[in-house]
Amino acid sequence: MKTEMKAGVIASKNSLHLKTVPIPVLQDGEALIRVRYCGICGSDIHVLRGEHPTAQFPVIPGHEFVGELVEAKGPGASRLTPGDMVVAQPFFSCGNCEPCAQGHDNVCRDLHFMGAHCDGAFAEYVKVLTRKVYTIPKEMDLRLAALTEPVAVAMHDVRRSGLQAGQTALVIGGGPIGMLIAMVARHAGARRVVISEISEFRRAFAEKLRFETVNPLDADFDAQLQAKTEGKGFDVCFEVSGSKPGIAAAVQYCTIGGMVMVIGMTKEPYPVNLSAMFAKELRMQGVRSHAQYNFIGAVELLKSGALNDAFATMISAEYPLEQIVEAFDRAQVPGDYFKLLVRMP
Ligand SMILES: [Zn+2]
Ligand SMILES: [Zn+2]
Repeated sequence: MKTEMKAGVIASKNSLHLKTVPIPVLQDGEALIRVRYCGICGSDIHVLRGEHPTAQFPVIPGHEFVGELVEAKGPGASRLTPGDMVVAQPFFSCGNCEPCAQGHDNVCRDLHFMGAHCDGAFAEYVKVLTRKVYTIPKEMDLRLAALTEPVAVAMHDVRRSGLQAGQTALVIGGGPIGMLIAMVARHAGARRVVISEISEFRRAFAEKLRFETVNPLDADFDAQLQAKTEGKGFDVCFEVSGSKPGIAAAVQYCTIGGMVMVIGMTKEPYPVNLSAMFAKELRMQGVRSHAQYNFIGAVELLKSGALNDAFATMISAEYPLEQIVEAFDRAQVPGDYFKLLVRMP
């Protein structure tokens, strides 16, 4: 077997190049995947720009991938067969600390996220933890399967919010994760899902999927939102924008006893209106990536096909690995696209 592969490597801030690097060597408990597709995530861009608080260079970015299993070692290997099409949870968690023991592997005390703290999947091969690998049906559209990780994030956000069938939700920030949250929330039975988004392209996209939208820059933004809930506010507000006005709106438009979900990453501490939290007896839940049980949920949701038509609309373009630099250049400029995928040779 060959020992070298092509990969997109971030050597330092704003420096991404296609390079030839060694194929990862497996330790016990690890599996090697030949990558087919990997999607570009906002956090990959944060890593490239040096905005990720804990990323280490050099690093191969990428954590939204699908591929073919080459080899698996250690516990869990017996349920996998080389040649299987697989997806994998993109981080190394210890499996022993108390958050891991409670099923919160996404907040493991020794968490190494692929594409930031260790190498990711914009490469011909990637290594993962064997116990985080899941087989998908051979006939599944691999481009859709590459969305498993962001779907897992959306599922984690909706489940952790406690959203009940018949409730209302406000999604602040209509990027890929916000849009997936809206889809999953509606699928979970939300009777009304409103997306607040500045970009006209994203609002039009959401409306095509029959979501209601509002533009926070509109003069009558407040009146529009009040009208949508008869002035009562939303049962769950998902703050995905990571902006100061976003978190303020999430608290303001949350109903009495409602839930504010903190999803968007923020660098600085933002002020929160605690008297509104007090007066309305609100709850606030931070969420980080996704836990393994929600990754499994995302695999099952994709296998069911229930939302696959909607998910497919999210894939805007694909680039061969040779054009990874062009793909990242485009992903850094807001425009008329959602998910950009990179296809491996
Ligand atoms: Zn991502
Ligand atoms: Zn742990």
